[in-house]
Amino acid sequence: MTDPLIDPFQRAISYLRVSVTDRCDFRCVYCMSEKMQFLPKKELLTLEELDRMCSTFVRLGVRKLRITGGEPLVRRDIMEFFRGMSRHLESGDLHEITLTTNGSQLHRFAKDLYAAGVRRVNISLDTLDEAKFARVTRWGRLPQVLKGIDAALEAGLKVKINTVALKGFNEDELFTLTEWCASRGMDLTFIEVMPMGDLGNEDRVGQYWSLHDLRSDLAKRYTLHDIPLRTGGPARYVRVGETRQTVGFITPLTHNFCESCNRVRLTCTGELYMCLGQEDMADLRAPLRDSDDDALLENAIRKAISLKPKGHDFDYSRARPDGQMTRHMSHTGG
Ligand code: SAM
Ligand code: SF4
Repeated sequence: MTDPLIDPFQRAISYLRVSVTDRCDFRCVYCMSEKMQFLPKKELLTLEELDRMCSTFVRLGVRKLRITGGEPLVRRDIMEFFRGMSRHLESGDLHEITLTTNGSQLHRFAKDLYAAGVRRVNISLDTLDEAKFARVTRWGRLPQVLKGIDAALEAGLKVKINTVALKGFNEDELFTLTEWCASRGMDLTFIEVMPMGDLGNEDRVGQYWSLHDLRSDLAKRYTLHDIPLRTGGPARYVRVGETRQTVGFITPLTHNFCESCNRVRLTCTGELYMCLGQEDMADLRAPLRDSDDDALLENAIRKAISLKPKGHDFDYSRARPDGQMTRHMSHTGG
């Protein structure tokens, strides 16, 4: 019997988010700069290494994997990785594998994802207006993403839309987006913008829109019932009486969820971040590459978890408008 991963604050680590690439076919203004320098390929974990890494975490008690990026579906042959992970779903060791995607490649992969055991996807979409979509993503095209969303629903995947709340940008679409999601049976989660990437430069399309205000706006039209759903992360949920959908609010800058935090993040180069808001990380690529035996890797993971901090440091009162975090979201994965 392998001992599960428990951190110094008695939190069991059962959720791993994995960034499988730093690359993306979009350049969202709050996430990346226009001219991104991507990592040399040799720095990235290979698909085999990703499999070994994730399988080791599963052996140590991780029950939920979320695959992210960059854009996970632009990684070459990524479906091989998903197909590989399905053995852990079949054995029951892994309860769920999901992904967060910009949707641009879903028309190609939705069916394969379902066949590999994926049942839910989070798709990021900030606006239903084609011109605004092109502005916020710089390189994205809305019709392609809408086609991907349709393909996901047709394949039987449960879809949740993630929308970054941007003042002066999508404030006017609050009800349109909510109702558009409801009409397709999709849940919706709003994300408070974090001071990362290039926010604050000339490409700024919106500013901080507090989810407290967003929620008040939503309550002007709908009846919102708090629901006790807790995922161990920074999301809070309500049920909208009129549309019967679940709407979530992710406020990563608040500290009120750290005590229940059950997650860690692995970058595409094998760095393990124990907390989204802290710079501390552990390199897992070296122990992985140094030995074919997983013992070295297991020890490195246990040591990293023993250093998981109690909480994070984000604080808008101290944040500079150009972002106090040096990491891009695409590096650690959203
Ligand atoms: N490319 C995929 C996508 O867009 O869904 C996965 C990676 S992306 C980094 C994951 C999530 O992070 C997306 O929902 C995106 O909107 C969100 N995100 C990126 N930068 C952010 C920021 N500065 N503040 C808040 N959310 C951000
Ligand atoms: Fe790409 Fe997702 Fe970042 Fe947009 S938010 S640039 S789609 S990784």
